[in-house]
Amino acid sequence: MNKIVSLCKRRGFIFPGSEIYGGINGFWDYGPLGVELKNNLKKIWWRNMVYDREDVVGVDAAIIMNPKVWEVSGHTQAFTDPLVECKKCHHRFRADKIKTSHCPDCGGELTSPKKFNLLTEVYIGTVEDEKRKTYLRGEITQGVFVNFKNVVDSTRVKIPFGIAQIGKAFRNEITPGNFTYRSREFEQMELEYFIEPNEKEGERWFNYFLELRLNWYKKLGIKENNLRIREHAVDERAHYAKKAVDIEYQAPFGWSEFEGIHHRGDWDLSRHNIKYQDKITNNEYYPWVIEVSGGVDRAVLFFLIDSYYEENQRVILKLNYSLAPIKAAIFPLLKNKPELVDKAKKIYQNLKNNFMVIFDDRGNIGKRYLYQDEIGTPFCITVDFQTLKDNTVTIRDRDTTNQIRLNIDKIHDFLSNKIS
Ligand code: ATP
Repeated sequence: MNKIVSLCKRRGFIFPGSEIYGGINGFWDYGPLGVELKNNLKKIWWRNMVYDREDVVGVDAAIIMNPKVWEVSGHTQAFTDPLVECKKCHHRFRADKIKTSHCPDCGGELTSPKKFNLLTEVYIGTVEDEKRKTYLRGEITQGVFVNFKNVVDSTRVKIPFGIAQIGKAFRNEITPGNFTYRSREFEQMELEYFIEPNEKEGERWFNYFLELRLNWYKKLGIKENNLRIREHAVDERAHYAKKAVDIEYQAPFGWSEFEGIHHRGDWDLSRHNIKYQDKITNNEYYPWVIEVSGGVDRAVLFFLIDSYYEENQRVILKLNYSLAPIKAAIFPLLKNKPELVDKAKKIYQNLKNNFMVIFDDRGNIGKRYLYQDEIGTPFCITVDFQTLKDNTVTIRDRDTTNQIRLNIDKIHDFLSNKIS
């Protein structure tokens, strides 16, 4: 973990939030490479979960909603973690995560568990006395439910169908930690899939989405033996869930959830009293919901961990090409030869309209390769003296370090084929 955290800082993936003022616990900022990686992940998710399907549409709901949403959804009452507090050092720990009856920090005696609400309060309005209390959303899900009727009325969706959303959520986590794994501000990518209310349909779609999501992570490169699924015990399930299975990753800090598949039944729509009317039979009912709820930040973290290699003095991020922040780096062999620099700049200018590429002429070529390996760039393209004779460049592969020579006119197709 220390190596990942330090690589993220050194190369501009993830920085501690508000660092110049001493930081703030549970908040992180994504740097120039981190934002590319995160955006790539979200784009692929959206493409696969929305564009590739005919039964899913998207929304982007507001972060702040009428506080009634959170009362009706049960979050003001039930969105709590039982905590124990050390009587000596007053550190608090989640009761479900602590295995001893004594404080892990100082050995002091612990109190019995108490409940703390995870919703972050905010006050809306400008006049001090008239400010109204509401919450930053604790999950993005409710924004979908409160718009269910709007979506049904304004589009041609018919059950079974899904509504997808990606966005920020906020939780006053008691023990933020393990880098970005448990943050107080984070992003979720979710699909709420609405089905007819019967057990058979519930089971069918639950199993379908569980398999779909597990395969999605495998296809994007997470090693199979670092993935597992774990079903929640009845007393562990969230207040809304009929059934819940987590997709877990074998992180350096142990097996950890990064996506949940939840059978929410009709909990939400019945609480909000939103019914669906079948246009053919005219039957009215509360649909059931199968939810796929993934964490963008947790997925980014696990893709970084899973792709980290140290080989023959090289640090390599073997990220899937579609996730890699930069697809190719273009170098002139020598910085002080204008013919080489001009040619390399031209290649860079041509490629940058279609691919995320960078130009680099600092230091020697060996150091430039090492830098690109460390940030996961799949290809390094070098303009050398032979280029001036026959219009070919070398293309070096990140994972094997093998090089091929290719005509400049063919670079675009080469990258298109590899990266798609
Ligand atoms: P945990 O048990 O780890 O607190 P959870 O079961 O409360 O997580 P869900 O409510 O199911 O999480 O949220 C869905 C997804 O949102 C999680 O799988 C995770 O990827 C992400 N997520 C939840 N809480 C956080 C957090 N504090 N920081 C980063 N991501 C989070």
